[in-house]
Amino acid sequence: MSWLSGRPAGYITLALIVKYRAFRASPSHTVMYTAPGEARARSTGQLTASAEFLWEIEAATLEEANAIYHLRMGFEPFIPNGNPEQCPNCAAWFYPEGSGECWRCGKLC
Ligand SMILES: [Zn+2]
Repeated sequence: MSWLSGRPAGYITLALIVKYRAFRASPSHTVMYTAPGEARARSTGQLTASAEFLWEIEAATLEEANAIYHLRMGFEPFIPNGNPEQCPNCAAWFYPEGSGECWRCGKLC
């Protein structure tokens, strides 16, 4: 797995790091997509060729990506859906009512 190269051993063991890309779709509208989400948005016309690419990040969960998105866009702090619970596999905190993704183990629910 090439995404592990350059990371300290044990940094992330099983979760997949996902790339997220942010765009300015109009002067007052920004969006952030995963690669499949971006492809879908382009195919349906939700994201047009005139959208300005802003930046790209990598994150282990949607909650991590949204927290960075809010910071970079000057939005209020991101609040995940529901309450955090401990992952049944590794005890890291995750949001079962949100993405259901553990930052160490990947998708749980
Ligand atoms: Zn876990």
